[in-house]
Amino acid sequence: MENFITTLTDGSPDSFSQPFISEDGVPNNRARALGGGTTINVGFYSRAEPLFLEQIGLDEALAKDSYEWIEKKLVNKPVSFEWQTAVRNGLLEAGVLPDNGFTYAHINGTETSGTIFDRNGNRHTAADLLEYANPRRIKVYLHVVVHKITFKTKDGPIPKADGVIFYDANGGKHMAYLKNKLNNDGDIILSAGAIGSPQLLMLSGIGPAAQLLSLGIKVVLDQPMVGREMRDVPLNSLIVPYSNHIQLSLSTTVGIANSGNSYIITFNGFDLSALSVSGPISKGYLELRNTNIGDNPRIRFNYFQAAENLRHCVQGMQTVIDVVNSESLSRFRIGNMTTRDLLEMMVNMPLNLRPKHPNATTSLEQYCMDTVMTVWHYLGGCQIGKVVDRNFKVFGEDRLRVIDASTFTFSPGTNPQATIMMLGRSMGQRILQSRRS
Ligand SMILES: Cc1cc2nc3c(=O)[nH]c(=O)nc-3n(C[C@H](O)[C@H](O)[C@H](O)COP(=O)(O)OP(=O)(O)OC[C@H]3O[C@@H](n4cnc5c(N)ncnc54)[C@H](O)[C@@H]3O)c2cc1C
Repeated sequence: MENFITTLTDGSPDSFSQPFISEDGVPNNRARALGGGTTINVGFYSRAEPLFLEQIGLDEALAKDSYEWIEKKLVNKPVSFEWQTAVRNGLLEAGVLPDNGFTYAHINGTETSGTIFDRNGNRHTAADLLEYANPRRIKVYLHVVVHKITFKTKDGPIPKADGVIFYDANGGKHMAYLKNKLNNDGDIILSAGAIGSPQLLMLSGIGPAAQLLSLGIKVVLDQPMVGREMRDVPLNSLIVPYSNHIQLSLSTTVGIANSGNSYIITFNGFDLSALSVSGPISKGYLELRNTNIGDNPRIRFNYFQAAENLRHCVQGMQTVIDVVNSESLSRFRIGNMTTRDLLEMMVNMPLNLRPKHPNATTSLEQYCMDTVMTVWHYLGGCQIGKVVDRNFKVFGEDRLRVIDASTFTFSPGTNPQATIMMLGRSMGQRILQSRRS
């Protein structure tokens, strides 16, 4: 738990996390390590709802097989901590029903889901999945940063992706090219995440032409939708100061409430948070600030721009208040602090850089807007149907795919990591199959 917070606040060049503040004024983080977000995240693991698989065109049996492939290596039933159990009981008391027990499924009601931490508290990351690989057939380079995808321009009117330029930790430049032995069958697969993938595509010349030209980037393909429709799941919390000592714990309990539009979670043993999901429908953009791959692009998520997202936040916060007032949780509360006192305490905390309004403790709408934080489930920028096709190939490019959260149009399951890893494995299977046939 301490490591979790220390990593997120460590902005040094060697940190696993690269902090950024979105144009919304909300502090955020992007992962910078082998294994991506799974190396710094909260560990909560839940599968996607069937609608999501339908939307991205994935076969249910293949998805199930891929989830199981991941779960075998990484996922555990969580140890039950006192606070998580109290929240679970509080959710049931507040009417977030039915009690779905322990499950990886994403279903309305209260559940305990999986975690990538084992019983000894050790984190298992996506990098552990390399144990499945044949070491003779894979090379993994550490401490390298890809600066550009390269394109072959001689073979016709449309340039074809043929390699990448990357730099090592000492500043040495390297290139890697696709082998053309298989009749141009190889692929470059970009999995740099919802910020890294649109950023790298644009730096390589695929993106909105005017923006690229303004930074002196040669346009390979004018693709106005790269960097568009960035979304993030907003999070609003109440911290509950308690009188007894409680062991800190990362999130394992969730209440999926209000017809599935708010998820109530607790991170650590003193808070209750509402995630206003339903998409999220509100969407923003990502734009390059400069041509340096190490710098954060300009990102705006436009939290609560859609009235529906704001309504779901209000409903979620109302459920949070009901849970805080439940019998299960009231025994932890210090003396006579009312929920209004708790709201006021949150409004006065430096959670973000947004302006605070005097009515934020009396209007839950204003509270949602003034105290919004992130749950780091950002997505978009290379969306399926807009930047990539249903085989995750970049439109107009035959040998370049993007496979990560940047292709999503809504956040799958309670939390996305399970489905992002599942997508990677499923697409790997599909690509191998198509090469064999
Ligand atoms: C603090 C935090 C808590 C979270 N909690 C949870 C949770 O409990 N449960 C859950 O399901 N999800 C959680 N998430 C979200 C989840 O971890 C992410 O949605 C997921 O990791 C995104 O996967 P991705 O593959 O799209 O991108 P990422 O995981 O971001 O991976 C992208 C990778 O690409 C690398 N990269 C980027 N650009 C370059 C480049 N130019 N050259 C070389 N490498 C590059 C990065 O270093 C990174 O390793 C959390 C995220 C964070 C940050």
